[in-house]
Amino acid sequence: MTQMLLTHDPRTGTAVAHHACTDATQIDQICQRARQAFFQHWRTLPAARRSEALLSVARHLREQLEAFAAAEAADTGKSLATARGEVAGAAGLWEYAAALARVEHTETLGSATGSGLALTLREPMGVVGLIVPWNYPLITTAERMPFALAAGCCVILKPSELAVGSLALLVAHLQQNPLFPADVVQVVYGVGKEAGQALTRHPAVDMIAFVGSTATGRAIETAAASCGKRVTAELGGNNQVLVYPDANLAVAADGVIAGALRNGGQACIAGTHVLVDPAVADEFVSQLQQALQRRFPASSSDAVPEGLQPMITLAHKQRIQSLVQAGLAQGGVALPGSRLDGPGHFLGPVLIDHVAPDSALREQELFGPVITICRVAASQFNAIVADNQYGLAVYVWTAASSTALQAVRQLRVGRIWVNADPEFWLPELPVGGFADSGVGREGGIRALDTYSLPKAAIIY
Ligand code: NDP
Repeated sequence: MTQMLLTHDPRTGTAVAHHACTDATQIDQICQRARQAFFQHWRTLPAARRSEALLSVARHLREQLEAFAAAEAADTGKSLATARGEVAGAAGLWEYAAALARVEHTETLGSATGSGLALTLREPMGVVGLIVPWNYPLITTAERMPFALAAGCCVILKPSELAVGSLALLVAHLQQNPLFPADVVQVVYGVGKEAGQALTRHPAVDMIAFVGSTATGRAIETAAASCGKRVTAELGGNNQVLVYPDANLAVAADGVIAGALRNGGQACIAGTHVLVDPAVADEFVSQLQQALQRRFPASSSDAVPEGLQPMITLAHKQRIQSLVQAGLAQGGVALPGSRLDGPGHFLGPVLIDHVAPDSALREQELFGPVITICRVAASQFNAIVADNQYGLAVYVWTAASSTALQAVRQLRVGRIWVNADPEFWLPELPVGGFADSGVGREGGIRALDTYSLPKAAIIY
């Protein structure tokens, strides 16, 4: 009997849709067909035709923005406004990939060979298994799929079992779009340990592009390495926010609230852990509370503050609550206005002050609407960041360009925002992490290198 996935709206707990799981035999056939589509069609298609196909997807996303936004919001609990912004962001990534499809970074050596010619070509990796999480299905897919396609790869997508709807719409479009030959893009549905693992191990899959937790990413890296597959993995983060004494504290407070609580804090780049110099800590905490009040105006009749996003599952909510309770038991102080519980999947926002630098609360990725505040001298900020096992993102708030420059040069993290919140990002910039936050890079001007290898030739 076919197994079914049933997705739920985290706002209400009501069922959204059923999706039939792809069984092991079907996954095998999908992988074989992808390999054929790669060799017979997509690999050799002129770059301009691939570019045109990618642009048509961007157009479709913009034309059908409401349908994609509604599907993404229903599975994830995002507001429609947020989901609309993400669909537009995803379209921008498809457009950028379409432009890159026509740019080839190759070399020609005329004189090194004497009378011959030496040159390099870019050879696409082949079939890419793309495994994405539930928190940003369309964006994490758009950061990878169009670039893999632009490079000449075929893609098999595995959405999270918790958020399937917007990606099912995307794949349905790709499979009907006449500019994409059959089987260039396919999808497998199912739980990670079955459908995801089958893709990771299948011999017809040449590369895995993964976004998700560090534990799963590490397991995938190990499995893929044992059969020689390339892996890119963008993993968890535990991101610090450095508030220097010279920062504009009111602006920083608004930026911290926006950067930490976006998507209900369920974002790998959420700036959860604030380090603030004691000289300005009291003033900054007061500004933070005011900023929170502006973002989520309290009203005694509100069971849930307007604009707050629910946790994806009850189990996820309970995990965050128990981490918060442990942090409070270790001396953290919940600031007034914090909501340690809420109806259904809702929780927060929570501000916890006086968290010690070595508190367990600061060591794990919280992935929820929680901000911790640790009062510590600015001279120690960079050392504390360096101690972190993750290396995904850091936020720096300072008026001094020398402090900003020093942070940008010293910190080993994939992305640094100085005096800005994560609303500001560009497809032109690469994404990825250091240490436990992942391997490889996606996006940016060299994005196609991730999905291709140079091939060298000497011609006489
Ligand atoms: P998981 O690692 O649990 O899942 C991510 C994806 O991997 C899902 O599609 C999941 O499928 C699949 N999966 C699970 N187990 C396996 C397996 N053994 N083999 C192959 N695939 C598998 O992460 P979450 O869904 O919980 O997402 C949250 C995590 O993702 C956080 O740690 C967050 O930081 C990280 N993340 C990182 C981002 C980044 O850009 N750095 C962006 C977004 C999230 P299924 O869900 O069906 O089990």
